[in-house]
Amino acid sequence: MANALAFLDDELRTLKTAGAYRWPRELHGEQAPVCEYDGREVINLCSNNYLGLANHPALKAAARRAIDEHGVGSGAVRTIAGNMAIHGELERRLAAFKRTDAALLYQSGFTANAGTVAALLGKGDVVVSDELNHASIIDGCRLSGAERKIFPHRNLDAARRCLEEARGARRVLVITDGVFSMDGDVAPLPQLCALAREYGAIMMVDDAHASGVMGAGGRGTVEHFGLHDRVDVQVGTLSKAWAGLGGYVAGSRSLIAYLMQRARPLLFSTSHPPSVAATALAALDLIERDDTLIARLWDNTAFFKSGLAALGFDTGASETPITPIMIGGEAEAMRFSDQLFEHGVFALGIAYPTVPRGKARVRTIVTAGHTRDDLSRALDACGAVGRAMGLLRG
Ligand SMILES: *Cc1c(COP(=O)(O)O)cnc(C)c1O
Repeated sequence: MANALAFLDDELRTLKTAGAYRWPRELHGEQAPVCEYDGREVINLCSNNYLGLANHPALKAAARRAIDEHGVGSGAVRTIAGNMAIHGELERRLAAFKRTDAALLYQSGFTANAGTVAALLGKGDVVVSDELNHASIIDGCRLSGAERKIFPHRNLDAARRCLEEARGARRVLVITDGVFSMDGDVAPLPQLCALAREYGAIMMVDDAHASGVMGAGGRGTVEHFGLHDRVDVQVGTLSKAWAGLGGYVAGSRSLIAYLMQRARPLLFSTSHPPSVAATALAALDLIERDDTLIARLWDNTAFFKSGLAALGFDTGASETPITPIMIGGEAEAMRFSDQLFEHGVFALGIAYPTVPRGKARVRTIVTAGHTRDDLSRALDACGAVGRAMGLLRG
């Protein structure tokens, strides 16, 4: 019988020849600042577990209690089996946290972005989008059928030109990541909001990497810049600083009511198990109670960034705990990452197509859970590998 999937092996061979074939390393035990990947203990600079909550006793206990009290599954999509009370409670708490009137839970940050953009826009509409926005935003734009106008990264003149060209469209959406996931830099949010207002466009911000990290109390870039009355749609994730799984949209009551009618991930995919919502509530309790963990995260970030700079690495335009070590060449970045792993440090090599050609890098993310000793040892390893590879002088 002819193998109709033979093309898969051809494609995989091509990827392998190009050195672009990937398979994730295997984590044994808990997601932690120092943990065991592929049988080796390493300092983990790959996770988005910013506040170290992934194995916090209070979150574990909340998940266990929710299983005992509410079971392990929600039964069906919300519009069919109904909202579980714990999902409603989490939505009210998230709205209060983000200082909006309402919030809506999605299964992930990915579905929150894709589902919301696709619900808000259609044919005849225009999306004005930063070229480095997350894949879930790009997919949402594609699904919506709206025309896409992509502006070069953080380029406000170009964003204005896109808005100028969009005049006469039925609806226009300006959309940006708050913090960009591959570079750790921050969107020029005040200026983008001013542009959106000038052109009568909807303003949407994806604060996946800023929620629990930036702004007073970890409320995100909207809080950081004081733009609550300027941003119409805020997306957050419960998968990063919140250490569990999920996404949400925060905004007006009308926005949430409309999305409940139209957002396809809500209408056609089952809601979270109650334990996931319980975990998020427990994380929110911790984050709202005090900002010790957030302060520690930023202390660690400053320490690690200054250490990398002192070694002579180029860390790009990062202003957040996401710090890329810019390498340039694809193969070198991958080799740097592999060598770091041999030296007991797990930091991901990132190359085209995730980032532009010639801008390959090793991305590091510190967390509140790393000790100074962890970070010092990681810096020593970066220095040793950097020198051995001829990336650093001396
Ligand atoms: C991780 C990420 C998402 C997706 O969030 P998940 O909850 O992991 O699906 C969306 N946007 C940005 C900018 C992200 O970095």
